[in-house]
Amino acid sequence: MLKDQPPERSKSPRRSRDKFNEAPSKNSVCRPHEKGFPHMYVSRDVGVFNRCPNCGAGGITFDGIKKLYCQECSFTLFHNVAAAVAAVLEYGEQIVLIKRSQEPGKGKLDLPGGFVDPDESAEEAVRREIREELSMELGTLKYLGSSPNTYEYMGVTYKTCDLFFSSRIDALPKVFDKTEIEELVLAKPSEVPAEKIAFESGRVCLSQLVQNV
Ligand SMILES: [Zn+2]
Repeated sequence: MLKDQPPERSKSPRRSRDKFNEAPSKNSVCRPHEKGFPHMYVSRDVGVFNRCPNCGAGGITFDGIKKLYCQECSFTLFHNVAAAVAAVLEYGEQIVLIKRSQEPGKGKLDLPGGFVDPDESAEEAVRREIREELSMELGTLKYLGSSPNTYEYMGVTYKTCDLFFSSRIDALPKVFDKTEIEELVLAKPSEVPAEKIAFESGRVCLSQLVQNV
């Protein structure tokens, strides 16, 4: 690792500030440019970040992928992909779904889970989320796979990478967190209509479960 580069920039030269304002080449990662947008533009997608969090200047720009940049003070903020986890709780041939009581996806079905906290492993996160939401302690976890997702919350678009785990349970949850969960739904994965699932990653996970049966 080079001493004069922060760790998060060391792997990818295209992230360096020197290259930031260069005209993008055909290999540029700036997909909006390839679609005919200027290399940098003020994003309407991140309206809550329209002022620099460092100097307060307006005109902060977004590369359309993950980087916010202030042209006044050069402050850069990476709106990186967040890790999230979800559990497929297997009760016989059925699984436990939650009906969401909060936006996004209020009233729709979801797998229990949530965001990974700082300094936490994905396994710790899924155990914690199930403890918090369903007051259950999980046994053996099996990693199923991951899927990208988009999570809209209070005007901000969060791109996530959702990691799915399954765990067998011998008893159904008796209590659940009513601030997040309207009710629990027990169903076979093949019985859950895709349009009733809150998020795309959940649809992908359930469809893979059905295919692998
Ligand atoms: Zn600034």
